[in-house]
Amino acid sequence: MALRLRGFTSVHRRDVRRSRTVIARRLANLPCPVPRDLVESLRAILFADRPLVDVVYGGGDGGPSTPYARSAGYRIVLYARAFSATAGGPARLAPVVFHELVHIARGWELDSEAFENAWFTQEEGARPPTREDWAIFQEQQYQGWWVRVDPRTRRVMDYADRLIHVFPARPTRSG
Ligand SMILES: [Zn+2]
Repeated sequence: MALRLRGFTSVHRRDVRRSRTVIARRLANLPCPVPRDLVESLRAILFADRPLVDVVYGGGDGGPSTPYARSAGYRIVLYARAFSATAGGPARLAPVVFHELVHIARGWELDSEAFENAWFTQEEGARPPTREDWAIFQEQQYQGWWVRVDPRTRRVMDYADRLIHVFPARPTRSG
């Protein structure tokens, strides 16, 4: 695989590999309509020699004010919080990794949020858009690279007018 893991414990490496397996299975049996070039980019990241994506451990104490992950270029930083199954919730690792892979494939925030929530349930660790995410969507005219959202109905459609996902009611508090 063309994910190069750096700085993880052996337990974390196992968790990242499991997440990759879950994502690969869904890629083989798509949970929702997915634009072809996004499928091809995700396949290339997971199965081809190029692009090579560095996945780096970012540490942190896993607390609620710390990030789950960040990405830039062909680099993903995963923080402790992405690995910790907090009280009442599952480890978010697979949806978090998938969210960042969509960014690496050139997705904007709306693309990553839409496909994360279309591919994974909240029980599996997907997280609906927060108030901050909705502010980003608004700044970006409710558009992504592959999808757009109607802020009133919260329906996400791709540019071929296929329904990708319907976000739950917008949060009134920070999340
Ligand atoms: Zn994002």
